Amino acid sequence: MAEFHYRCSDCDATYDSHQVIYECEHEGSNLDVVMDYGAIGTVHSPKSIGVNRDSSIWRYGSLLPVGMPSGCSGTLRVVGGTPLFRAKQLENVGKAGEVWFKDDTQLPTASLKDRASALVVAYALENGIKRIITASTGNAGVALAGMAAAAGLESVVVAPEAAPAAKLAQILVYGARLVLIQGTYSDAFDLTVQASREMGWYCRNTGYNPLTVEGKKTVAFEICEQFTLAEGGSDDGEWIVPDRVIVPVGDGNIITGVHKGFNDLMALGWINSIPKLTGVQAAGSSAIANAAESGNMQITPVVAATVADSISADRPSDGRRALRAVEETGGSFVTVSDHEIVEAMFALARSSGIFAEPAGAAGYAGCKKLEQLEDILPDERVVILVTGHGLKDTTAALQNARKLSSIEPSLEALCEAIA
Ligand SMILES: [Zn+2]
Repeated sequence: MAEFHYRCSDCDATYDSHQVIYECEHEGSNLDVVMDYGAIGTVHSPKSIGVNRDSSIWRYGSLLPVGMPSGCSGTLRVVGGTPLFRAKQLENVGKAGEVWFKDDTQLPTASLKDRASALVVAYALENGIKRIITASTGNAGVALAGMAAAAGLESVVVAPEAAPAAKLAQILVYGARLVLIQGTYSDAFDLTVQASREMGWYCRNTGYNPLTVEGKKTVAFEICEQFTLAEGGSDDGEWIVPDRVIVPVGDGNIITGVHKGFNDLMALGWINSIPKLTGVQAAGSSAIANAAESGNMQITPVVAATVADSISADRPSDGRRALRAVEETGGSFVTVSDHEIVEAMFALARSSGIFAEPAGAAGYAGCKKLEQLEDILPDERVVILVTGHGLKDTTAALQNARKLSSIEPSLEALCEAIA
């Protein structure tokens, strides 16, 4: 692990790392983790990481603020190392030069949130913390429950009562204390922060605990390393980056994590440019995209309503850093309708064999929207993050799939049924 300190993302106040701290004491802004990149670069390099045969996120331990817990096992040990692959069949129907998918549906609890929960749980183990609480629309709670179970820690998940049943099942099976509330994700967020402050429980909340971004940044590391290998390596030892990365956005924490990962690598001199970052929001949950469009960086809460529950956020907890991620990389925000999200979910599954939940397919819907808007260049190499598995939320799939009826077991009826 690397030595680090915290720095406020708005006022540059700094805080040492020997304390549990979530936000700036001055204005309550998100905290960034800052490392001594000069010192890291004297010891580590893309080459030294490349010879490590461990494919999990812990191969990047020299760039993480928490070390892999000794003796840890199970999901906590193996999270990371998901496939990056090119989908040539989709390049024929779209305008982007190359379309790649980073398939985080294959993480242990089937969503990208595992990367964040792994860091938070590892931190808890390192510091003797026994109980971790989180608010969740579903996936963050699942990921915390799974990682905490592997570490032998207690997790408490507070979720809206409308969360998808499969995600609630995952949380319960992993043994977390699941509490459903009569309210929204924002209500769950406020309640867990209050519980953390007054009861002293360690809080994992996305866009609140600074370690979630540190876990999510590992997806940017993997994209660079895997993309370089796919390109046949580089002559100068640096990693090669794609031209654009498209990210589904709810509260803004994943795109902030992706941005942090590329920023870390730039600071180390291991890459020589940062891809444009495109954030995709559901039209019914577009507080951050609205702020980007207005140009004033002020995020006004919305009453979120979308089929993509994982990116449904009334009051995004990491909106300002998400806006910066897009602005500083020359990217953009796009919004997509629920209909476009569901269409993308089917198209993704039928062209690439990836079954994503609606939020997980929103990145591909966003790519299609960029193509419609002609806001993408014909030679661009685009990586699309697929953030969560379709089995977590089958409601939209079942509502939109071909309706089935049963037949008598005869060959004649079979042939008629598939005609
Ligand atoms: Zn501050």
